[in-house]
Amino acid sequence: MTVSLRPDVARGWFPADAASHRRDAPKFCPSCAAPLGLAEGGRGLATEYWLGSDRVFVCYCAACDWSGDIVLTERVLGHEAEE
Ligand SMILES: [Zn+2]
Repeated sequence: MTVSLRPDVARGWFPADAASHRRDAPKFCPSCAAPLGLAEGGRGLATEYWLGSDRVFVCYCAACDWSGDIVLTERVLGHEAEE
């Protein structure tokens, strides 16, 4: 699928955002590997929101009752232990 870099004339950025959500949303539970989406036979969900430049997927898996956030970040800040 090709996504335009310009907003849709009638619907703004929604089509591009929806396409990136379909592409990037977690498909499987990180705890038990069950599918999350109803279309894949799962019973979970992955809802997306934005926090600055980060994309956060709030996930719930009904198969194992796991829930948590999966963050796609543009930049990771870490730290090193002192030597
Ligand atoms: Zn699970």
